[in-house]
Amino acid sequence: MPVVDESLNRCLKELLLPTVRRSYGEHAASARRESLSYEQFLLELMEHERETRRQNRIQRLLRESKLPLEKSLQTFDRQRLPQRVDATLSVLLDGSFLDRTENVLAFGNPGSGKTHLLCALGQHLIHRGRRVLFRPCSLLVQELLVAKRDFTLPQVLKRLSRYEALILDDLGYVQQSREEMEVLFTLLADRYERGSVMLTSNLPFSQWEQIFKDPMTTAAAIDRLVHHSLILELNLSSYRLEEAGQSTDDEGRETTTTDTAPASGAETASVSDR
Ligand code: ADP
Ligand code: MG
Repeated sequence: MPVVDESLNRCLKELLLPTVRRSYGEHAASARRESLSYEQFLLELMEHERETRRQNRIQRLLRESKLPLEKSLQTFDRQRLPQRVDATLSVLLDGSFLDRTENVLAFGNPGSGKTHLLCALGQHLIHRGRRVLFRPCSLLVQELLVAKRDFTLPQVLKRLSRYEALILDDLGYVQQSREEMEVLFTLLADRYERGSVMLTSNLPFSQWEQIFKDPMTTAAAIDRLVHHSLILELNLSSYRLEEAGQSTDDEGRETTTTDTAPASGAETASVSDR
């Protein structure tokens, strides 16, 4: 029925149903073969459209997120995680912390798997349809500084606020100037209770004054992050060193974070005395 096909094609094009347009012929043929009801045929076709759209959306969100795709849950060995962290991870995987705009703070020495863990979690959330952005902290700070100089900081913050989770990788890894820390603080204040921040840091809270320069700003930054947060303490030996088959005894364990965390008390933790 070329006339029907022609009209149908035009109709589907106008209605923006490309998958139906491509596949209705095939579905119709198999429906005839299997003597499906009209409703069953329609259902199959619509489900196909919906699934294709879902997959396309996930691919788009993954591209947009700038997440390193090789750091996924599939390539992450959960056995290495301390039991408490693994249990928290199981809770985080359902993504409801994003609805409560809770933050996730991962601490631990270099190589303990903080970045991999948060990236894997980020990818998993995207597969559940969530919007996530991954940025190395120092890069994002540079981008914010440029925006500030160009008087476009409000627009940039607004764009960032569209992401349900912002993964800030390696907070405090490089020493930064006061101006750089001010824009970082502006970002954290802007997201407070409006969107989740997921961050990794080698530095425990007690050393965050190195990052935020003065005690007041440090306390205010910690307060905003810790209020409504889940803390993942990865006091682990370096995966990199273990892979390389070296001894891990002399590793920088002092950078791990027994003093980071109001851990379970994070909900109400005050930082004024830290
Ligand atoms: P950190 O951010 O704590 O410095 P990374 O997440 O960068 O550590 O991990 C260092 C390297 O070890 C990466 O290549 C990462 O993929 C790998 N790695 C760390 N922990 C695990 C793990 N539990 N399972 C698989 N690979 C891991
Ligand atoms: Mg890292």
